[in-house]
Amino acid sequence: MTGTTDFARGRSWLVFSLLLGSACTADREEPPPAAAAPSPAAVVDVHSFARPEEARVRHVSLDLTPDFGSQRLAGTARLVIERAAGADSIVLDVRDLTIRRVTDAAGAPLGFELGQGDSIRGQPLIVRLPAEGDTVVVDYETSPAAAAVQWLRPAQTAGRRRPFLFTQGQAILTRTWVPTQDSPGIRQTYDAVIRVPAGMQAVMSAELLTPEGERAEGGRTAYRFRLEQPVPPYLFALAVGDLEFREIGPRSGVWAEPSVVDSAAREFAEVEQITAAAEKLYGPYRWGRYDILVLPPSFPFGGMENPRLTFATPTVLAGDRSLVSLIAHELAHSWSGNLVTNATWNDFWLNEGFTTYIEGRIMEELRGKDYADMLRQLGRQSLLATIQDLGGPQAPDTRLQLDLAGRDPDEGMNDVAYEKGAAFLQTVEATVGRERLDTFLRGYFDRHAFQPMTSEQFLQELNADLFRGDEALAGRVRAREWIFEPGLPDNVPAVEAAAFAKVDRQVDAFRAGTSPDSLATSGWSTHEWLHFLRALPDTMELPRLAALDQAFNFSRSGNSEILFEWLRTAIRNRYEPAFPALERFLTTQGRRKFVAPLFEELATTDWGRQLGQRIYARARPGYHSVTAGTVDHILTPAPAGNR
Ligand SMILES: [Zn+2]
Repeated sequence: MTGTTDFARGRSWLVFSLLLGSACTADREEPPPAAAAPSPAAVVDVHSFARPEEARVRHVSLDLTPDFGSQRLAGTARLVIERAAGADSIVLDVRDLTIRRVTDAAGAPLGFELGQGDSIRGQPLIVRLPAEGDTVVVDYETSPAAAAVQWLRPAQTAGRRRPFLFTQGQAILTRTWVPTQDSPGIRQTYDAVIRVPAGMQAVMSAELLTPEGERAEGGRTAYRFRLEQPVPPYLFALAVGDLEFREIGPRSGVWAEPSVVDSAAREFAEVEQITAAAEKLYGPYRWGRYDILVLPPSFPFGGMENPRLTFATPTVLAGDRSLVSLIAHELAHSWSGNLVTNATWNDFWLNEGFTTYIEGRIMEELRGKDYADMLRQLGRQSLLATIQDLGGPQAPDTRLQLDLAGRDPDEGMNDVAYEKGAAFLQTVEATVGRERLDTFLRGYFDRHAFQPMTSEQFLQELNADLFRGDEALAGRVRAREWIFEPGLPDNVPAVEAAAFAKVDRQVDAFRAGTSPDSLATSGWSTHEWLHFLRALPDTMELPRLAALDQAFNFSRSGNSEILFEWLRTAIRNRYEPAFPALERFLTTQGRRKFVAPLFEELATTDWGRQLGQRIYARARPGYHSVTAGTVDHILTPAPAGNR
């Protein structure tokens, strides 16, 4: 995923974690589910009720009909089960689902029970297994409040003609639309029939078997899908809307609303070069096609690496391909994350740290070292800021391997996983050499393809296949300290983007009083502008801000990243001429990476909090639950005692 970085800045987020922590205290006293069947290799996922060592889901067949009027998906999930000898039930994860009935393959009813749950994990659905056969069919319906699913009114789309729906499963939201074992360690294949209103198109993170669609009951069109590679359920994904397709490469294309699809095709035209660069480094792309779906602006993330079909925010359509590193990131997940997957959310850095490192390597192949170094330096800046915001280098949540028991795994999704994870691999590279690390990584992806991975297991791999008994080498990397200790170890290599030295000189000139018109900024890319904006003084006189705005048109920037940095500066200095742009930005897109830090900045002052609350009242109905959940906690004062 991209676009989660940055949102975690600030105190309100920490309060959020305390609130969630206290909600679950009682559940931690339950006996661990795996206790009855000890297995040395078993990894307990504290965010799932499943007991895969007793019975596990191997395949899911969905037959679902979306009803845009009632905002529900209804139908069946046919689960193919594998069970241990003597197992007579299976435990699934569900949240906010109405279970109508459960049967075997022949339609004979099976006993089921919804167990005690909590607000984070939902509930266990315990199904009595049939005496014969390996199939369980769950007949169910989702709730309009299903956290994974966002239902958009026509007015919330680009075309404003038809409604739209999309799902976002990561981390533990798939259970709000599919009753299955929702743990990243339990891989499943899937197929689906999605019956949509005439004129609408369904797409999924799977092969589309019926591109033209089939006539279905009630004038609907049915689309069939199949994913042959086993994936963790957080990668099940569906979108339905007024969508068109454009081919952009031999194995790639873009899906988007008709008014967006051509600009999206131009923006992502380099996708085949990006894929080829990744393959050269880490081996073949194993998923068949690589398509990109551009979603309406409320999509809460930059991108989501759904297999075969990356879901992307329209805020990367800058018009000049300057934000295409997002596609490099999502594509890199085809190796780190989708192929070798964090076994639990405590190991999230194994997905995101690797992917951020690989994103840098792909962009280096594509645009050269100077360009990639800018990305790396911006990433390092964000990491240092996040460590401060989390409470400094001793704070437990600055460890790569986290302890998220009793908390929402969403809380582990900050720059520590992404940028400290990437910095760790940069450290390994600087110590053992690039070639040796590449050979190791390529072998690692091959050996563990389609398997889960834990931090401890990765450490063993590193010792066995990279250090190979070279204690001195291992001692220079200090992997255990990197993974299990808080803060940023001091053997991290410095990142110095040559281009930023030039930018720094212009910032110095501006600080010394030079008029913005006289600064040497010609030829700057998005990244130079981002560095410039971040390097500006925290407090500035309003006429200086006005001069900057007049010289560089920041308040009218069509580049979402540049506009975001500028609006942060504007709030900090109460530069009111930018506030109409701020309100427009917050009410026309819902990407959490942008939305949450701006509301956090507003919430630091009384006038800002008032303005934030007024804007949020308008913006909230358009946000996905992932974004709204975060902003709710930013703008709602915590109860006494939690500060
Ligand atoms: Zn990612």
